[in-house]
Amino acid sequence: MTSPRRYQHAATAGAVLLAAATIGALCHRQYVPACALSVGILILTEAALREHRHVRRIELECEWGRRRARGENPAPLNPCCLLARASHGQAHDRKCTGDHSLAKFIAQIEAEHRGNTP
Ligand SMILES: [Zn+2]
Repeated sequence: MTSPRRYQHAATAGAVLLAAATIGALCHRQYVPACALSVGILILTEAALREHRHVRRIELECEWGRRRARGENPAPLNPCCLLARASHGQAHDRKCTGDHSLAKFIAQIEAEHRGNTP
C-alpha cells in the first residue's frame, strides 16, 4: 500500500514539472498548451495539499494515541474523527478521539427508549 506521504511527494513533483513545462510553453508562445498545463498544475497542487492534510491528520492521531497510552488525557482532536466530519456528527469512527464510546451510545439509546415508554 502506498503511503499518503508518497502520494504527496509525487503530486508535488508532478506540479513542479508541469510548472516548468508551462514556463517553457509560454517562452515559445504556445498559449493553449500552457493553459492546459496550468489546469494540471492546479489539480496536482490540490492533490498534494489534500495528501498533506491527510498526513498531518495521521500524525495528530498517532500523537494523540501515544499520549493516551502514556496515561495522559489529551483533548479530543477537532474534528474528533473523519467520519464525524463527513456525517456532520451523526456517526463516529472506531478511531474517534472524542468521548463517543459504544457504551455511552448504548446508554443514550436506552435513556431515550426509557423516555418514550410510559
Ligand atoms: Zn468522532
